[in-house]
Amino acid sequence: MVKGILQGLDDTIVAPLTPPGSAGVHVIRVSGKLSRGILSKCFRPEKARRVKTPWRQYLGWLWRGGTPHEKVVLSYMREPRSYTGEDCLEIHCHGGVASRRAVVELMLARGCRAALPGEFTARAFLRGKMDLVQAEAVAEIVSAASEANRQQALKQLRGEFSQELLGLASAVGGVLAEIEARLDLLLGEGESAGAAGRLARSLAKIARQAAAMCRAARRGVLLRQGLRCAIVGFSNAGKSTLFNALLGEDRAITSAQRGTTRDVVIERLEMMGRQYLLVDTAGLELAGSKLERMAAERSEIEIERADLLLLVIDGSRSLSKKKEAALVRAGKDKTVLVIYNKADLRRPLAKDAARLAVVLGVKDKVVTAAKQGRGIAALRRMLAGIFDREAGGYSGALVVSERQGELLRALATASVRARDLARREQEELAAEELRGMLETLAALRGEKVSDGVLEEIFGRFCVGK
Ligand code: GDP
Repeated sequence: MVKGILQGLDDTIVAPLTPPGSAGVHVIRVSGKLSRGILSKCFRPEKARRVKTPWRQYLGWLWRGGTPHEKVVLSYMREPRSYTGEDCLEIHCHGGVASRRAVVELMLARGCRAALPGEFTARAFLRGKMDLVQAEAVAEIVSAASEANRQQALKQLRGEFSQELLGLASAVGGVLAEIEARLDLLLGEGESAGAAGRLARSLAKIARQAAAMCRAARRGVLLRQGLRCAIVGFSNAGKSTLFNALLGEDRAITSAQRGTTRDVVIERLEMMGRQYLLVDTAGLELAGSKLERMAAERSEIEIERADLLLLVIDGSRSLSKKKEAALVRAGKDKTVLVIYNKADLRRPLAKDAARLAVVLGVKDKVVTAAKQGRGIAALRRMLAGIFDREAGGYSGALVVSERQGELLRALATASVRARDLARREQEELAAEELRGMLETLAALRGEKVSDGVLEEIFGRFCVGK
């Protein structure tokens, strides 16, 4: 039977930390109590009689059955000062597929078991080297595609979010203790209005903090998934040309014929350390054939889904009232950046620009000549600014897993209920909410989570992590 991460805790486990295939070097980690025996029986350093100092790298040979097996650089990490908190070996071998396999096979022959995905990090968690927030941050760093995402996950790995959770838990615990004490007192004595007001204020502060965490988590989704920008406008305004100019390659087909982008084209893009999903849509006015109607419907869906609309306007032509109304409809209740394109032909008409800015309530606008690449740098800078506003830049966001996101939302809702109950002086019920919040906070940090949840979290990691 295959053991789960939480069952075979006494086993010594082995896995390459580097991905399969040829490389410069491969690194293989062994973790568990057999590490020391393997070290003394299988490894002979070149320049020393034996490995005397942990955490130092030794060049030498791994031996198997009386013959030299592989030349490696090895370090021995003694518990608890290793990634997993257990005795570990880290073996750097030649970067060949066969070398990697030869080292792993030797370790298996020596009694190790192949590590499951996430098993090293799971052990680090179980041995108290990190809490669940930090363990999930490790997964996030490994999968982070953008600089902003990586920076944020690193902050969480350093424990900033964990500290915040601890602070909140202590505030909630404090209020709960006070309510409990008051409930005892109330049996005999009179009520003190001042104390009730103080409680309500503390709870309001806690609710604000929980709500801020939720907001930060929503921003974190932007960091991870990217700001979804839909390029919208009438046919021939230069949407596809702009799309290509931002991507820096000819991804979408542009042509002088109207309505070439029949379907939606989506590309992931990193600019200035920020992630975007760039969506090129069909022209706004397409709606003749069945195919065109379908394209128009898809564009509408994309407009709906977008975090930001890039409204592209052919700045060389004047804008009819009808077109203007369609643009206003598209941009209603959305964050919009207006792009006046084809500025090489004629400066965009100031009166159009001014009117559109007023009716859309838009401040962000930029003038481009996409075909010539003019104004694209300014557009990129403007996008970075909008990204930071929406996602809170590098600092105001939290990248959390879905599990953490759900717990944070539950926390925020409970904190509002607790606050309202306290305001109505229903303190017993408020105390109940606070107890629930303490449990949610513990679950967030991984203090009280079921084995099933842990298996699920660590199962999402890759092998060797
Ligand atoms: P879309 O229908 O909005 O996607 O427009 P396209 O990107 O296909 O562009 C339509 C036509 O306008 C093409 O011939 C482009 O080369 C041209 N075009 C796009 N941007 C500019 C520009 O800034 N200046 C000029 N002069 N032509 C442009």
